[in-house]
Amino acid sequence: MACVGRFAPSPSGRMHLGNVFSALLAWLSVRSRGGTFVLRIEDLDPQRCKAEYVDLVRRDLEALGLTWDVEQTPQRLRTEAYASQFARLEEKGLVYPCYCTRDELHAASAPHASDGTPIYSGACRNLTAAERAEKTRRPAWRLMVPDETYAILDRLQGEYKENLTADCGDFIVRRSDGVYAYQLAVVTDDIAGGITEVVRGRDLLSSSPRQQYLYELFGASAPEYCHVPLLVTPEGRRLSKREKDLSLEELLERMRPEELIGALLHACGVLEHREAISAADAARIFDWSRVKANDVVLTQL
Ligand code: GLU
Repeated sequence: MACVGRFAPSPSGRMHLGNVFSALLAWLSVRSRGGTFVLRIEDLDPQRCKAEYVDLVRRDLEALGLTWDVEQTPQRLRTEAYASQFARLEEKGLVYPCYCTRDELHAASAPHASDGTPIYSGACRNLTAAERAEKTRRPAWRLMVPDETYAILDRLQGEYKENLTADCGDFIVRRSDGVYAYQLAVVTDDIAGGITEVVRGRDLLSSSPRQQYLYELFGASAPEYCHVPLLVTPEGRRLSKREKDLSLEELLERMRPEELIGALLHACGVLEHREAISAADAARIFDWSRVKANDVVLTQL
């Protein structure tokens, strides 16, 4: 089957090195096998995403030579598609309104999932119609999860599994402000785009069992996964958008795209020596078996 990969940035800031690294590996994986590369702008959250960053993402990818074959409809224009998937979940009787406040959800006693979010207690799962009618808050909408284990076999990280009840709990598929949640949107879009492999940062590994569950509910087969290591400073600190010096804008002022690509591929194990290389040349030698699974320490750039 032809491989279709994607890069799905959220335009909530200028691309930083971590995004560039994920985009580069996603692109190389597809291009090294003659597949199709898809760009999808994940501007789901109107409060965090800005149009000006969308142009910058495109420009940054072009500057690095990370070309795409298809651009999917941006998420802000996909509300109808998400609504119809949400309706399918409702028809199965799996969605319910949740009126809990932030403070209730973050109560000190709440156990936490691996991604740091509190595991939902199920407080609103069995409210009666009369109890719901008394609530005045606008609810978020949660998806009931089964007491079952969902696993993925990640190309780099190996098996990753969660029992959805014990490790995650019923999760939000639509927020109280009406915005559909990331988990629902990303699965809907990956199905619509015919995506066969998802390459993204390891910080999203813990989302994959929930996404497997959604694929099952939507009767679709899940893609292959590859969660790439996070970039860390020599002190072990994760690089983030706040690290202004590592925005692509500043980096490309002092180094050529080929030098940056070479430095990243050397740091993660693909290149034995640090040398400048274009994305196109790197696609000819790219091999997943050389990529490290654990944190990639980035020394001087
Ligand atoms: N939009 C997400 C992000 O920028 C990535 C989602 C995904 O790759 O599944 O972090």
